[in-house]
Amino acid sequence: MDQAIDVRHHIGGGWVESASGRTYPKNNPWTGETFAEVAAGDADDALAAVAAADAAFGGWAASPPIDRQRILLRAADDLDRGRDEVRGLLAAETGCGVHFAGVQLDFCVNLLRQAAALAYAPSGQILPSDLAGTRALAMRRPVGVVAAIAPWNASLVLAGRAVVAPIATGNTVVLKPSEEAPFTGGAFWASLLTEAGLPAGVINVVTHAPGEAGAVAETLIADPRVRRISFTGSTVTGRRIAETAGRHLKRAVLQLGGHNPLLVLADAPLDQAVDAAVYGAFVHSGQTCMCARRIIVDSSLYDDFAVRFVARAAALPVGDPSDPATVIGPVINEWALSLLERRVREAVGLGARLLTGGVPVGRCFPPTVLADVPAASELAFDETFGPVVLLEAADGAEDALRRANGTDFGLTAGIITGDPYRGLDLARRLRAGIVHVNDQPVNDEPQMPFGGVKDSGAGRFGIGFAAEEFTEVQWVSARQDPRTYAF
Ligand code: NAD
Repeated sequence: MDQAIDVRHHIGGGWVESASGRTYPKNNPWTGETFAEVAAGDADDALAAVAAADAAFGGWAASPPIDRQRILLRAADDLDRGRDEVRGLLAAETGCGVHFAGVQLDFCVNLLRQAAALAYAPSGQILPSDLAGTRALAMRRPVGVVAAIAPWNASLVLAGRAVVAPIATGNTVVLKPSEEAPFTGGAFWASLLTEAGLPAGVINVVTHAPGEAGAVAETLIADPRVRRISFTGSTVTGRRIAETAGRHLKRAVLQLGGHNPLLVLADAPLDQAVDAAVYGAFVHSGQTCMCARRIIVDSSLYDDFAVRFVARAAALPVGDPSDPATVIGPVINEWALSLLERRVREAVGLGARLLTGGVPVGRCFPPTVLADVPAASELAFDETFGPVVLLEAADGAEDALRRANGTDFGLTAGIITGDPYRGLDLARRLRAGIVHVNDQPVNDEPQMPFGGVKDSGAGRFGIGFAAEEFTEVQWVSARQDPRTYAF
């Protein structure tokens, strides 16, 4: 990017400054230069966005499915054509590398195309009634205004996932992107969908300065016109969102953090296990919620696995995210970089063995592998968002299962085994929302039921599943003849 771009709120179909006139600079995590000058919104801007979304709801909910489908298909084609530009923007705003930008683009183009079919999904059932002459229906209705709060890490996918299915099912949306991804996780979606023909007010975006998310999010959740909350982000923030939503008796779909295990069983093919572990731990520099954080290896394979895995990790190219050869790009900001360093230092201080990495290289954190990490260290029990992974040995499959379940989180897991049927049996006993047998944990497709259990969240994204999360079932009955009452 030669010049910083201007990111304004998108409210009622127009691009507007903050009511306060304030802005903040969003930096490029690789170069440190200003990527964008961004509107720093507060409660007033959030309220204006809710008003616009509320005003647009009636018309959009009643729009013919063919109109909704046409807009989503056109947006898919436009996004597909703009891949090179979007790749550059993702690198400049979030440090996203070329491979993961391709993953995000593929997902979003497919998401839009699949959501286009949602416009024609059956919207109810006819139910038998014991009252003679009564016709009963269960009708799916859009909920109204959805507040969508998204993180920075896979900005294009996670903002897209938060807005596309709700819009396809007739809702209107106020999107609150992360302060670290106001463009690719916010304004970009408003621009793409508006240019594809989305009417004014159906998508609104309110951005805010770092440290000011709480005021905007609380205003959105508290507003009686907002009927559903969609939140993707850390468990700490998700807990706050759930508490606030609970106070206002609103349902929140929560997609939170993970501490995802990859199990390598005694009968696993070693080459396949190492390939899966390297990808699962280090894709997108370890900055996806699905990344393998713990690799639990049967003790019969542990030493061989560790030697090969550590050698592969240490050789991964680190640096400029726009270089297609780079695997580990910059960490999103200095706070995250210092957290990674501090947690590794703490674990080593408590007795962990550092097998590679551990010290920042410029704005990047190198692939880092630790063994014998004590349970008391933060790395062992909390999600650490970056290229850091723990190795542990297990004494057979039951011990591996017990270790895998020994966490408060429950997002994704992988099992590498020579016996896929045994893998399926273990999958049933893993307390995780998603399990992949003979694959690592980082996978997503728009139609899949994505979501976690325990502290990893509640509710499912994925086209058909999200359609249920963002609609309300209404029981409607009708009679032709008057009914005879008891009194
Ligand atoms: P985060 O929790 O810091 O921020 C997420 C969103 O919440 C952002 O929009 C942020 O501005 C907002 N926010 C921050 N503080 C807030 C507050 N006090 N009140 C209201 N909103 C607030 O998360 P992040 O660093 O942007 O993203 C990384 C996290 O997201 C990781 O924990 C990762 O595992 C998780 N994540 C989960 C999924 C999933 O589908 N389960 C997907 C991607 C990321």
